[in-house]
This record gives sequence, structure tokens and C-alpha cells, in this order.
Amino acid sequence: MKGLLFERNLPRFAASRLASAIGGSGRGAAVGPLRLTDVTPPDLPGPGWHRVQPLLAGICGSDLSTIDGRSSRYFEDVVSFPFVPGHEVVGILEDGIPGTGVPGTGVPGDANPVGGTPVGGTPVGGTAVGGTPVGGVGTRVVIEPVLGCVARGIQPLCAACAAGRTGGCERVAFGHLSPGLQIGFCSDTGGGWSAGGLVAHEAQLHRVPDAMSDEDAVMVEPTACAVHAAVDAEVEAGDTVAVLGAGTLGLCTVAALRRLAAPDTLLVGARYAHQRRLAEELGADVVVEPGQLARAVRRRSRSLSVSGTLTGGADVVVDCVGSDESLAQALTMVRPRGRVVLVGMPGRVSVDLASLWHREVAVTGAYAYGVEDVGGTLRRTFDIAMDVVAAAGLGRLVSAHYPLEHFEEALAHAGAAGRRGAVKVVFDLRAGARHGARGPATTGPTATKGRVP
Ligand SMILES: [Zn+2]
Ligand SMILES: [Zn+2]
Repeated sequence: MKGLLFERNLPRFAASRLASAIGGSGRGAAVGPLRLTDVTPPDLPGPGWHRVQPLLAGICGSDLSTIDGRSSRYFEDVVSFPFVPGHEVVGILEDGIPGTGVPGTGVPGDANPVGGTPVGGTPVGGTAVGGTPVGGVGTRVVIEPVLGCVARGIQPLCAACAAGRTGGCERVAFGHLSPGLQIGFCSDTGGGWSAGGLVAHEAQLHRVPDAMSDEDAVMVEPTACAVHAAVDAEVEAGDTVAVLGAGTLGLCTVAALRRLAAPDTLLVGARYAHQRRLAEELGADVVVEPGQLARAVRRRSRSLSVSGTLTGGADVVVDCVGSDESLAQALTMVRPRGRVVLVGMPGRVSVDLASLWHREVAVTGAYAYGVEDVGGTLRRTFDIAMDVVAAAGLGRLVSAHYPLEHFEEALAHAGAAGRRGAVKVVFDLRAGARHGARGPATTGPTATKGRVP
């Protein structure tokens, strides 16, 4: 079965870093450590694991950083080679989950406080959170890719997993699986970029409602990141919130903030015209070019500007870019004692922190998902994300579909998505899906950027 395999190969890492530095993000694919090859479907690692045949698999910014050789060395020991990338996946359950179809029940006698339930309900501290039945063979599912304690067969669970915060799992390099933060970065699980399929633990599966398109479903994982960030932003009623960046994460964050928080004013800095239009459609009040965002925040917060930093500013700034420039910008426009949330994956950045110190700004990371406390109720982030995707119609952000064979073009398109009028680029494996292909067979790259409703 054809799949894209990422191998540890230092000369090719160096080549891809150079190619992407010269040609732009995604250009490292042709010379880098990723290649299209015959990939053997992974073995089931243990009880509770199932086979999933991908239908659509997205290309994420973190995939591009990895392929471009730009990701932080921090991640070196939490991946295992060779791996099949692809953690944004909607697929078909190939082997079914026994005993499913009964919503809201866990496995009788299951001592596992998180996951391990055949119905996708995650009892957290004795409370069932979630509870969508996953189902039998042929069920459409999205993957919650984080490989926490439950998936790793680790008992007792670490404190984060016991609380349902699987994104904060302290054991991602341990247990019966090879190291890997997520499916798509682990040599034992496979990933979405393979026609051979992948394996996932039942605690990682979420059934997709029949009415939801594959395009909506493939947006659930990135939306879950945005939902987690929107909750972590701790927006209070009446707050001014600024979002930097309007790629996939930025747009999903706008949709999540608008639906889960109650900002008085939601301002967005977006570089490209299609991003500005989408940000407005998804609920932003003020949309400007990134260079104009500080001025817009200043006007809104009636602040003055001293040495380029506002005296007041936004209560919360969400950085969906993760660069030196975006973090520096965030610090100039957040109010004293305000909050900056980093959603875009940063690496090594060089930023002047004098204003952070002087103005007592809190900077926090927002990674992945687990459970969220929304209005005193605990829900799985993926369940909230499904609602946000459906309410906001986020499948509209899928701009282009490619078959695996055209992976170099696909990655170049994803790397230049903004400039090329696109948002999310996905691999389309539906033609090869064994349990009934959905949608038209894809024979070549299908750009669908004109399809935004
Ligand atoms: Zn991602
Ligand atoms: Zn854990």
C-alpha cells in the first residue's frame, strides 16, 4: 500500500531545510526525508486498538515545519522514525468496536478512568464526558491523535491523563508504543498519509455524524486545537480580543472564540484578502492587515503608544502564527496584565521581553486538547469542536484535495496556502478506501478554492 514515509536521514534533513529556505515552505518535500513508498499497515499494538482507513488527511503547519527541517529540537525525543505523517484524519473504521451502539455506557468493570470505553465516552473522575457511540465496521470516525497514557497502556495514568487533559500527558515517550506525541509522529501507529491505513486506540476515536461532510470532519482536529486555545484564553464578557494570523488555526480560533466566549470586540490581523473575507464570515468584528492591527487595537482600547507599545491594549491576544514577529507584535498590543496565548507552534524565537516584564503580561501555550470546562460543564474538546465545525461550516476552509502521488505539489501548495488563496490542503484517499469510497475518485490535484459558499 502506498504511503508517505518520513525517515531519519540527516543529509536529507539538511537538504530540505535549504530547499525550503530558498524555495519556501513545503519545497523541501522533493529533496527531504519524506518519500512515497510501499508502507506495511501497522500491527495492532494491543487490546482496544482498531484499524482506520483514511478518507481525507490534512496537512498541518507542524507537518510542514517537520518536513522543512524547521521544527524545534525540543521535539527530537518525542517522535520515532520512520513514521507516516498525518494527524488530521477522517477515516473509516475497518474492524468495528464490539458492543457499540449503546450511548453513554462505559466498559463494565473497566478500571480505566479515561478512554477505554467502546462508546467513546470518557469517564473523567467518575463523570461520563462525551458519550458518542463509535460504532461498527464502516463507521466514519475522526482521530484524536494524542498518544497519552491510555493509548500507551500505562497504568496508573499520569495526573494530566487522569484529569482528561491528554494533551498534557507526561508519558508520551513511554509505555508499549514508541515515542510520539501523536499519531502521525510515531513509528508504531501509521498516520493519515497512507493508503495502508493507521491504527488508533478506541479512546482516540470519535464518530462523525452522518450529516457531516468529510471536509467538515477533517477540520475537527485543527478546530479542537482552536477550541482549547479559545477556552484557555479566559476571555471575560466585554473583553477586547485580538487574533494574529488567519491561516487554518487563526480562522478556526475566530470561529471558536465567537461561539465559546463573549468578547466585546474580536479583531483579526490577516495578510490575504480571502483570509480577511473568511475571518469576517466566521465572526470577527474588525479585520485588518497584520501591520494595522496594533492601530486598530489602540483605537478600540483608547490607548496611547509609547515606543511602539500601547499603554493599554487588548485584554487577550491570540498568536496563531508563532514567529518572532508575531510574538513581538502580540506583546506590543496586549494590555498590562493581559494574556497572550500561543497557538501557532513557535520554535526558537528572539523577542524583547522588557515590556512583558514591565507590564506583567502572561504568555501561555495552547497545545492540543483533552477536556474543557465550559460554564462549569466538562466536555471532550473534540465534541465541542464537532459543534463548532458544524455551526461555522468550517469544511469551507478545505481549499484543495491531492492524491498521495502528488505529494510534492500538495506540500508546496500547503506551504504557500495564504499566497495562493488557499487555507487547508488535504490528501484525498477516498478512491482507495475499501469500505465504499465517498465522493468522486480523485485522479489529480483538485483545487476547490472557488467553492467557498
Ligand atoms: Zn496539527
Ligand atoms: Zn498521560
